[in-house]
Amino acid sequence: MRIRALFFVALVALLVAAAVWLADRPGMVAVEWLGWRLDTSVPVLLLGLLLVAGLLLAVLRLIAGVAALPGRWAAKRRENRRRRGYMALSDGLAAAATGDAGRARHLAGRAERLLSDPALTSYLSARAAELAGDGDGAREHFRAMLERPETAALGVRGLLDAALKDNDLTAAVELAERARSINPDDGWLVETLFSLLVRLGQWQRAEDLLGDAERRRAMAPDALLRRRALLLNERAAEAEAAGDQRGALAAAAKAFAADPTVAAAAIRLAALYAADGRRRKAVTVLEKAWRAAPVPELARACADLPPVEDAVQRLRRVERLVASHAEGPPAHLAIAEAALEAKVWGVARKHLLAAQQLRPAAATYRLLARLEQGEYGDEPAAAAWLAKAATAPVEAGWNCGACDARPGGWSLVCPACGGVDSLSWS
Ligand SMILES: [Zn+2]
Repeated sequence: MRIRALFFVALVALLVAAAVWLADRPGMVAVEWLGWRLDTSVPVLLLGLLLVAGLLLAVLRLIAGVAALPGRWAAKRRENRRRRGYMALSDGLAAAATGDAGRARHLAGRAERLLSDPALTSYLSARAAELAGDGDGAREHFRAMLERPETAALGVRGLLDAALKDNDLTAAVELAERARSINPDDGWLVETLFSLLVRLGQWQRAEDLLGDAERRRAMAPDALLRRRALLLNERAAEAEAAGDQRGALAAAAKAFAADPTVAAAAIRLAALYAADGRRRKAVTVLEKAWRAAPVPELARACADLPPVEDAVQRLRRVERLVASHAEGPPAHLAIAEAALEAKVWGVARKHLLAAQQLRPAAATYRLLARLEQGEYGDEPAAAAWLAKAATAPVEAGWNCGACDARPGGWSLVCPACGGVDSLSWS
């Protein structure tokens, strides 16, 4: 404030000094131009010139302002378009997320028109096409996203999802490999690629993938060991089928060491040991497997190990096997089944009643019916148990966690849905 006041005072002083200086030096100016004549004093002329200069400056500014108007309007319109484009994009993504196909498609078209930048709108367009059931259109948009590094990962993922949905395993493997070259630490990708390679029977590539995932810590150690055991078990099966007993035994032993809960590997290993005359080792493997995860197949495999013995000896074997995990329904049912074969009725009854108390199941009722028939020939009592079996809850068995199928036995790939390692005993 003070500085401005000082400046003003200085300006006034300067003007007064200039006026005094001019007044001290009076003079006349005469201008003659095109028949016009102007006589005036120097101060008046100077004032006039100053006024003309000011006026000229104002006119020039006005012209510049008017000339810039169309450009400003265009910029404003562009800005407006972009804003509406982004709004359509975000609303469209929201519509796609809630599965509103019609609205997503409409907004995708609008965003494409307003933004005219495929890199920005391809994902929405692809999702909208997908929702509308237009697979080819969706793939085209996803492929457009591969052009830019920023959107390539999303594009590959979209194409991979489409290939998985179409069950095109070969294309899916290629896309999953490509996605992994962008995102090598993604656990979902490792899992997906592993399942694909297993379904294609490409054990070596699947093993290499597990090695890479281990180095990158892209998979939990337990999951890694289980997958390794599953692959080795398949290798053992192949070697066995090719007549290579030694190779089969080595692979099965490694599988069992990696994860003793893979019952199929334990049973295979025990059978190979038994065929090699190492019965004691075979029994040890089955006992360890039962401790890790009690599954009825283990008890049956133990009873069936050569040399074949009579039914009472088989019962003794099963009793010894399940001793470490003897409280659950699988142990009671395994002993009861062997006891029925051996006609040791008292043992069978005791274990069947115990199993029935723990969990009512059709299998238990059917065995109780067999017991009534075998021990007393009591057909009405057997019929009563069978009637209960008909209405009993679903019994334990191999069950697919992905599609809920209940195949008769275990296999690495679900025969119904192609899920890998999706079967569990429950
Ligand atoms: Zn399944």
